[in-house]
Amino acid sequence: MGAFQRLLAARQKNPGGRRWVFVPYDQLTDLIGPLATEAPETLGIVIVENPWKADRRPYHKQKLALILANLRHFALEQAARGVAVRHVVASGPYRTALEPLVQKLGPIRMQIPAERELWVDLKPLADKGRLKFLPHEGWLTTLEQFQATTGTAFPWRMDMFYRSVRRETGILMRDGKPVGGKLSFDSENRLPWNGNPLAPEPPSFPVDPVKEEVGRLIESKFAHHPGHLDLKALPATKNDAEAAWSWAKKQCLPLFGPYEDAMSAQSSGLFHTRISSLLNIHRLLPSHIISDILDMELPLPSKEGFIRQVLGWREFVHHIHVATEGFRRLAQRAQSIAHEPGDGGYERWAKKPWPSEVMPDDPDGGAQPAFLPARMPLPPAFWGDRSGFACLDHIVSGVWREGYSHHITRLMVLSNLARLLDVSPRELTDWFWVAYTDAYDWVVEPNVLGMGTYAAGELMTTKPYVSGAAYINRMSDYCNRCQFKPRINCPFTNLYWAFLARHRALLKDNPRLKIPMNSLQKRTKELQRYDGMIYRTVQERLLSGKPMGPENLP
Ligand SMILES: Cc1cc2nc3c(=O)[nH]c(=O)nc-3n(C[C@H](O)[C@H](O)[C@H](O)COP(=O)(O)OP(=O)(O)OC[C@H]3O[C@@H](n4cnc5c(N)ncnc54)[C@H](O)[C@@H]3O)c2cc1C
Ligand code: SF4
Repeated sequence: MGAFQRLLAARQKNPGGRRWVFVPYDQLTDLIGPLATEAPETLGIVIVENPWKADRRPYHKQKLALILANLRHFALEQAARGVAVRHVVASGPYRTALEPLVQKLGPIRMQIPAERELWVDLKPLADKGRLKFLPHEGWLTTLEQFQATTGTAFPWRMDMFYRSVRRETGILMRDGKPVGGKLSFDSENRLPWNGNPLAPEPPSFPVDPVKEEVGRLIESKFAHHPGHLDLKALPATKNDAEAAWSWAKKQCLPLFGPYEDAMSAQSSGLFHTRISSLLNIHRLLPSHIISDILDMELPLPSKEGFIRQVLGWREFVHHIHVATEGFRRLAQRAQSIAHEPGDGGYERWAKKPWPSEVMPDDPDGGAQPAFLPARMPLPPAFWGDRSGFACLDHIVSGVWREGYSHHITRLMVLSNLARLLDVSPRELTDWFWVAYTDAYDWVVEPNVLGMGTYAAGELMTTKPYVSGAAYINRMSDYCNRCQFKPRINCPFTNLYWAFLARHRALLKDNPRLKIPMNSLQKRTKELQRYDGMIYRTVQERLLSGKPMGPENLP
């Protein structure tokens, strides 16, 4: 018997006479749902470890460890409260693990899954009345609120949604007016970072026997998964989650706002809080985060900027995902669907098949919208092969080390380059899904398909987020250590012009692209031809796994 099983057995109480609740990997809290309102000694929880799910995609080892270690610690914490725990190891869809349990335990309840993939898996059980879906109490807003403020049909805009939620909730409002005189301080939060004030070191957490056991399991049964496993960087207990939040409040939040858009090779997170992976599994609750922030003495641009992320963006992307059925329905048009989960280009890079077993009734591999034609496979540089671009190489190596990078690196370097090269939005989404510890379909699909790649057109953004080297140079220090010079020969800039030229027909009427489109018109034919040559050279070299250098420029 391993450490976890021993500890669980020692804490288990008599499981008889309980009402059972299924707690999936991303609802690890007793502050909402039946665990918050019913007496522990009347409740039992079912927790499922599922190697089938883990092997559906080549998930980062740190992500597997995060989920497994939190699941186990949550079970131990609940057993210590007097809740009975049924711990199951499954080897197929979750419904196949729960169905036999219903025969023994009676109907099981659960809060409606956030992940559509899990919802699809469990819906047949719910339809048969064997599983009862309860409202998910972790969200701060409802779909009805979203639709009432932004309408039932797209385009949807975060600002509209956020403004109305602020007014409805009274958060950061006084006498019906926004505190500080305006609803958003976004325009003040755009400073680059020059190394001063110092950025905090990411937090570390005690390693205990449960985490060690999870680590051994990952390195044996899941050794074929990519990414670096670091148990010291793994928050897994309730105390760890609280320590992570205390660290964020003290070390990050006072400077969160001004440096929100900055990027640096010296710090993968700068003043970002790194709480997304804990929020998304409910080790931290959004409502508590917001109320703590409101109680804190913080400069208003940081306070408002952070509240906008959690109350605005996080809720907004979830509603978009539900309203579009995971991007399957855009403007009433059904989208093409990938039948199997994608591996984000892993097989091509690793030159070996990914050993997942796909069964006929498994959830599909997600929608494949493509507003702009984009079919290029994801280059091996996203898996760690050198590209020769200092910005990309630095961020990618951090992602495979930590399972994390902050928002602007995701948007303005990783997605930007993929977009400029016409990489398949679905493949990029699958890459983000496997590589980041905070990624689940409801959050990764809107962010990549909707925002990062413009694959859903104007659904949630007014224009594609694309830029040349000037933006990256202004907001980061990557270019100082790059073999390319941002003002002289950086291919990002040619890729930007080549992108606008290639997609001119679909983008020319976008009012927000009027200025760049006019500038494109003024670019000489010769320069535009050169942009196209750079596009083809970068595409060809990166796809074949060869780095770019100034000597490869046409
Ligand atoms: C291409 C791309 C892919 C992304 N994929 C994911 C993902 O898989 N999972 C994920 O949680 N976030 C994703 N995001 C959103 C955002 O980048 C991360 O939430 C954030 O970087 C997490 O780091 P942090 O906790 O340090 O965030 P902070 O900058 O400290 O922000 C605080 C919190 O706000 C919330 N938040 C901010 N922006 C968003 C957003 N756009 N969508 C949802 N929540 C938001 C997060 O919960 C975050 O923890 C993605 C963004 C882009 C551009
Ligand atoms: S010069 Fe270009 S490739 Fe190099 S770091 Fe800057 S933006 Fe990236």
